[in-house]
Amino acid sequence: MKFEVTVLGSSSATPVFNRNPSAQVLNCNEKIYLIDCGEGTQQQLIRFNIKSARIDYVFITHLHGDHYFGLIGLLSSMHLNGRIKPLDIFGPAALQEILELQFRHSETVIRYELNFHVVDPDRPGTVFENSDLVVSSFPLNHRIPCTGYRFSQKKRQRKLIKEKVADVPVVYFSALKKGQDVTLPDGRVLPASDYTTAAEEPRSYAYCSDTLCDGTYLEAIRGSNTIYHEATFLHEMLDRANETHHSTALQAAEAALEAGAEKLIIGHYSSRYKTLEALLDEARAVFPQTQLALEGRTYTL
Ligand SMILES: [Zn+2]
Ligand SMILES: [Zn+2]
Repeated sequence: MKFEVTVLGSSSATPVFNRNPSAQVLNCNEKIYLIDCGEGTQQQLIRFNIKSARIDYVFITHLHGDHYFGLIGLLSSMHLNGRIKPLDIFGPAALQEILELQFRHSETVIRYELNFHVVDPDRPGTVFENSDLVVSSFPLNHRIPCTGYRFSQKKRQRKLIKEKVADVPVVYFSALKKGQDVTLPDGRVLPASDYTTAAEEPRSYAYCSDTLCDGTYLEAIRGSNTIYHEATFLHEMLDRANETHHSTALQAAEAALEAGAEKLIIGHYSSRYKTLEALLDEARAVFPQTQLALEGRTYTL
């Protein structure tokens, strides 16, 4: 099952050096989930050939503009482009108020159904679930309420081996897929392990948006295969990071290490860094499986 993320924005605060504010597109089994929607997200979707019509779910972490200023534009374009299928948005309560205000004053009545789901920034919980994955939210520690999201694939059923099950009545498929051995009316036993192969292990992706790296959210991200963690500054700027409730590249790496992740993606770079190698080197010294969030690049999770 496809489980990958494409980075659309990697900059903190303002667009600089061709870098855009935060946005990522998660593809899980060909369903598209947008995570944050900074200014410029629409242009980035076009640039990287991702059809916005395919987005069915949007997750916003907090109300600093670099994480949602692109949303009203995206929603308006969906309306203008004739979207009719519903869109589900997850985010802070005030976001709904902001969007409604913008629609009201532009006298826009959108044609599609917009389902808004308020996410409590103070309490962890499950916010969404479908047949592919479960999305849970967890509190981060930022200057304003901020939420992280964890996308966890569900355990899949075993897969039938086509050649082997050719003569097996369909009625037994469900049991075999669940890993149960089947006894036929004539007494023959079909061991599930002979007729099916194990499904891939479910994987998970934790998105840690803007936060002070204080460890309070470590339990929520523990065991994630891949973690995205903001790394706004180099560690030499720790005081500034603490002041602004952001993290350093070193801290992001320590968090990934402590959480037992396989891979780390860092991003949300300060505009003081024209090049990013120093941030990468600093994180890799602690957590070698670190990659930079680079716009347009797709990461297998
Ligand atoms: Zn930010
Ligand atoms: Zn912020």
